[in-house]
Amino acid sequence: MARLSQADLIELNRTFEDRTPQELLQWAVTTFGTRVGALSSMQKSGNTICHMIQSLSLSLDVLFVDTGVLFPETLETRDRLMNEYNLRFRTLAPEKTMAEQTAELGVLYLSPEGQKQCCELRKSAPLDAVAHEYDALIGSLRRSDGGARGACPILAVDTRLNCLRINPLVNFDDEQLAGYIAEHTVITNPLHDQGYSTIGCNRCTTPVLPTEPRRAGRWRHLGPWSVYCGINPTDLDPERSPAIDLPQDLVDRVLGRSTDYMI
Ligand code: SF4
Repeated sequence: MARLSQADLIELNRTFEDRTPQELLQWAVTTFGTRVGALSSMQKSGNTICHMIQSLSLSLDVLFVDTGVLFPETLETRDRLMNEYNLRFRTLAPEKTMAEQTAELGVLYLSPEGQKQCCELRKSAPLDAVAHEYDALIGSLRRSDGGARGACPILAVDTRLNCLRINPLVNFDDEQLAGYIAEHTVITNPLHDQGYSTIGCNRCTTPVLPTEPRRAGRWRHLGPWSVYCGINPTDLDPERSPAIDLPQDLVDRVLGRSTDYMI
């Protein structure tokens, strides 16, 4: 095994700033083969990634964490993407139902500490359980979402999952995203048209007013509007241990020490 640190990725990240999302997706599949998956929560950015995967005819798992307390519209969106885009979805679930969890631990999501525990159990743990099957995960974070994502790199080491996170849409601003969705009639979660700017569990998501920040509807009961679930590493402290361990030949391919894969 070889170490791959965030510092090792500085030059590659700089080069990749000029790549299109499609080029980055192609690079991910060419570099990681069957060891790359995509992660989607059925929001506009994730659905756009799903559309690009379909239009490029890429073969990879699309991971979807069903916390057991999602909106029906979110599950219907997953089903539409799976059937109409013919994508290979892999739905991940927590060990316990929300009823079982509540009977054991109480209603966690009503306090800041409980929210962290609940998101850990219902969102992060299911992904942890399959992480050893992947060396890279494609996400859909965008810098224009601001907050902790305002400086999100295209490539980021995820020390928790020991994999590389790839975010092809970091440079897609709101106008570009809306333009792509309109041009390609991308399947979107109908909740967006009902005032939900971002969408998570039904317990912790509300619509937002036009004058509110985009994430005001997430964990509104906890405030202030800066909570994240922690499933994406850029939601967390970037100063945490910044290196992962991957096979030497894979690190060489990522860093361009062999030339048969580059886009
Ligand atoms: S968003 Fe709310 S209900 Fe869903 S896992 Fe997190 S705390 Fe629990």
